Amino acid sequence: MMSEEKKLDLSIVVPLYNEEESLLELVAWIDRVATEHKLTYEVIMIDDGSTDRSWEVVEQLAAQYDTVRGIAFRRNYGKSAALYCGFDAAVGEVVVTMDADLQDSPDEIPELRRMILEEDYDLVSGWKKKRYDPIGKRWPSKFFNGTARLASGIKLHDFNCGLKAYRKKVVKSIEVYGEMHRFIPILAKQAGFKRIGEKVVEHRARKYGYSKFGLERMVKGYLDLISVMFMSHFGRSPMYLFGSLGTVMFLLGGGTTVWVIAAKLWKQAHGLPLRGVTEQPLFYLAILAVILGVQLFLAGFLGELINRNATDRNKYLIDKEI
Ligand code: UDP
Ligand code: MG
Repeated sequence: MMSEEKKLDLSIVVPLYNEEESLLELVAWIDRVATEHKLTYEVIMIDDGSTDRSWEVVEQLAAQYDTVRGIAFRRNYGKSAALYCGFDAAVGEVVVTMDADLQDSPDEIPELRRMILEEDYDLVSGWKKKRYDPIGKRWPSKFFNGTARLASGIKLHDFNCGLKAYRKKVVKSIEVYGEMHRFIPILAKQAGFKRIGEKVVEHRARKYGYSKFGLERMVKGYLDLISVMFMSHFGRSPMYLFGSLGTVMFLLGGGTTVWVIAAKLWKQAHGLPLRGVTEQPLFYLAILAVILGVQLFLAGFLGELINRNATDRNKYLIDKEI
């Protein structure tokens, strides 16, 4: 185990779930690259509840290389949890994440690190420009990235690339949970890290094992994107959205109701032909709007009450202090 005081150039965080065949090759390759570039490093392998021999391989690697650390989850928590755990443990000045399946090339690491240190990026994301995945994965992914770009304003082609490099304080400032690993650049931006860059990286076909993410990931991905964007815009003040929508609907509905009734009374008083209030569709629409308006307002109000009790409501990140 590395001591906390030890200064390392690099921490490489590798989440893995049933990747026994790839690990030896991966670590040997990382070691070769780091040695070649004279970088001090640690590899943190997070075994996300593998049911194959992955952990045994990690143990074997830790015995063989003093740069390898292993952490095993008791069960499968998902890639986000594994990354978060690795971020917590990392001590390197630059933190690189990469998949365990050899689809990401360790040869890219020195350049990613250089971009962080010399070009002053907070985060550099890999871009699998030429991708070796089945078409059923590539097309939905294009669509997903387009939406994420539009929604977040971050100009990345490949949000979900497993190969990324971070300045250490970035990984210590963000909380990755659920399936949020797809949105780490968005989380970083929300935490105030604006220098987000991209590097075209070599991508390779999966050599061993199989992909752990199926089609259901597109559905989850979209729902998560909506929550991430929603949280960032209205998470702190749900009343801004629900309260204003509710008020507008309430006023619209209320006004229309008054209008419908007043119009009837006026016609009655002047002996003009008229329709009963309850015979007019507009009346029902107006009442619907009033009810929805109250509901929306209430939703916003409840949100505010929940927020008031939330422990992290005043969470802020300090960057510098003198
Ligand atoms: N992974 C993980 N926990 C999971 C699923 C995946 O740690 O529940 C790891 C997996 O072992 C791999 C990386 O996340 O190192 C990316 O997974 P995969 O290669 O299956 O995804 P794909 O490349 O097909 O998008
Ligand atoms: Mg993969």
